[in-house]
Amino acid sequence: MAGPRRRTVRDLRRNNRATVLRKLYFDGPLSRQELGPLTALSSGSISNVVSELVADGLLEEAGSVDSDGGRPRTLLRVAPHCGHLAGVDIGETRVRVELFDLTLNELARVDAPLPDGHHDAQDVVRIVAAGLAQVLDEAKVAPDALIGVGIGVPGIVDASDAGGTVGAVVHGQAIGWDAVPLEAMLRDRGELPPELPLFVDNGAKTLGLAEMWFGAGRGARTAVVTLIGSGVGACVIADGVPYQGSSGSAGEWGHTTLQVGGRRCRCGARGCLEAYVGAEALLERWRESGGHWTSTDEEGALAELLADPGAGELLDETAEFLGAGIADLVNLFNPERIVVGGWAGLLLGPRLLEPVRRAAAAYALRHPYAQTTIELGRLGPDAVTVGAATLPLARFLDEGGAAITSREPIVSGAS
Ligand SMILES: [Zn+2]
Repeated sequence: MAGPRRRTVRDLRRNNRATVLRKLYFDGPLSRQELGPLTALSSGSISNVVSELVADGLLEEAGSVDSDGGRPRTLLRVAPHCGHLAGVDIGETRVRVELFDLTLNELARVDAPLPDGHHDAQDVVRIVAAGLAQVLDEAKVAPDALIGVGIGVPGIVDASDAGGTVGAVVHGQAIGWDAVPLEAMLRDRGELPPELPLFVDNGAKTLGLAEMWFGAGRGARTAVVTLIGSGVGACVIADGVPYQGSSGSAGEWGHTTLQVGGRRCRCGARGCLEAYVGAEALLERWRESGGHWTSTDEEGALAELLADPGAGELLDETAEFLGAGIADLVNLFNPERIVVGGWAGLLLGPRLLEPVRRAAAAYALRHPYAQTTIELGRLGPDAVTVGAATLPLARFLDEGGAAITSREPIVSGAS
């Protein structure tokens, strides 16, 4: 019986550490006295766990507050430099790598354009590895100080072998990736510490996580966070966590059919939502209606479209398409909130949000529509990298910071 009992004690200790760490991470700084009622742990447990976390370097003092007539109470917070996180966004038109401290303050970033949507997997892996090396170097952070790397990709991620010999595999139909073993390819380069946790997920899902944790989705239990970039995706949050489906591909909203026999989509099918409201498709529709632009990138071209007084009809039509797509989400998932994010969503948002709401109201059932709000994302176009970094962060918090304390002392040059 010694085995199971030992495990139980260890689990309890880890759970208590995770509870205190999470509370201080999201709501800190707090005093020991405040932590008790907020975590439902006894003052003795709080005292033990806090001492341990301070000794491990995960918590630090953050001043003090007066208490009624008693001694001032010391405030505690998570030590921002006790570990680092990297977030990678493999986008449709560029790769972005960002390094964060534990509280997700950006320390360094690298942007590498992918000319003409060139997505050769070997090239992309090389760019990601070089980007990671560069941000670590710029911030003078040792690779060993990384808690983990999260990577958002424009495709479906099969993570069934994550941690195995092949690791996460990416199916990115729109960028020509067919079962690309991204995790294994990155590890095989031998530049990252072999034990470093790598997390790969769909970019719309990482964007969704970021908005749920820190942005427009905060506080909601049931929500849909949409990503409108070159293409279109979504992250469906059910009871506080992303709904995955049977093999992780749930949320491919961009490839739901808006018009049978309609425009050809990059996925090969006809009439997908993405073939009307994704930035690439929207620019194509503008060109067909006589529009032209001088920018060499999609962001600049879309800004030119928005500034063109002759594009009003095209934008009104786009708002109706998007509103109809959002009405489908309302009817299918009964969310309390729908967040419109992604670089193109945020660029179009100020012009389109009101007509999109009107169209969604017209296409959705009245009762679920009345329960939902449609809002713009709050984290800006960088939310995919922030969200990718939350993947290793979530594991770290769940494990009560074990990822750091089980390793050699961290050599951090960031101080
Ligand atoms: Zn499609």
